[in-house]
Amino acid sequence: MTEAMRELYQEVILDHGRRPRNFRTPGDANRTADGYNPLCGDRVRFFARLENGVVRDAAFQGTGCAISTASASMMSEAVRGRTVVEARELFNRFHGMVTGEQPAGDLGKLGVFAGVRDYPARVKCATLIWHTLMAALEDRDETVSTE
Ligand code: ZN
Repeated sequence: MTEAMRELYQEVILDHGRRPRNFRTPGDANRTADGYNPLCGDRVRFFARLENGVVRDAAFQGTGCAISTASASMMSEAVRGRTVVEARELFNRFHGMVTGEQPAGDLGKLGVFAGVRDYPARVKCATLIWHTLMAALEDRDETVSTE
């Protein structure tokens, strides 16, 4: 990655970290799950409205570092309008990218998180919301922990 690209990526993450999208509690959510990353202290509650297997709305609340907040913000935008199957595929690809097992490929804006693979502790910050998403979509009533 070039220095210019790295800076651009950092800017996108900082922007979403400061002004997270879909940072709210929807009144009509029919799926929720909680996530906790004890290593960093990130806490998140995720909300989704699922209709006929499609994610119609995705939002979150919580407190966390810039990486976890930006990841939640961008994930909530990325999964909207996708089926549960598509959301799981996206989770697998995102997880593969940040753990360095797979190239970023065509993950679009989510590709900005490729840089966290060099920081193992940050991988948990970036993936927390995705694990929480999976718990919500699978209707598992438990707090997801990255430990
Ligand atoms: Zn964090």
